[in-house]
Amino acid sequence: MLILNCPYCGVDAEETELHAGGEAHLKRFGPGSSDAEFEAYLFARENPKGVHFERWRHANGCGKWFHAARCTMTLEVFGTYPAQVSEPPQDIRDKITAKRPGWSWRDIK
Ligand SMILES: [Zn+2]
Repeated sequence: MLILNCPYCGVDAEETELHAGGEAHLKRFGPGSSDAEFEAYLFARENPKGVHFERWRHANGCGKWFHAARCTMTLEVFGTYPAQVSEPPQDIRDKITAKRPGWSWRDIK
């Protein structure tokens, strides 16, 4: 079972206490964007076998949204951080690098 630590209330929440919110750090496009940009924003999602950054909501707890870095193959959690953070924190990226040398995500290594 997936267990994530809520960065707001500090609770180690089981998957049943959480609500998945899909991919984290999406760049949003709205009015004025091209059709291709808007289509990619609406429909294109990464589906990696390995390190992934996701949005989760502590639905049966404090109710707040946060981000989680985890491995989709092993369910290993590298860390969680507040949803207002615009890119994965350096300490979590360092932790991933230590465990998955050579990993990359978008332009982050
Ligand atoms: Zn919480």
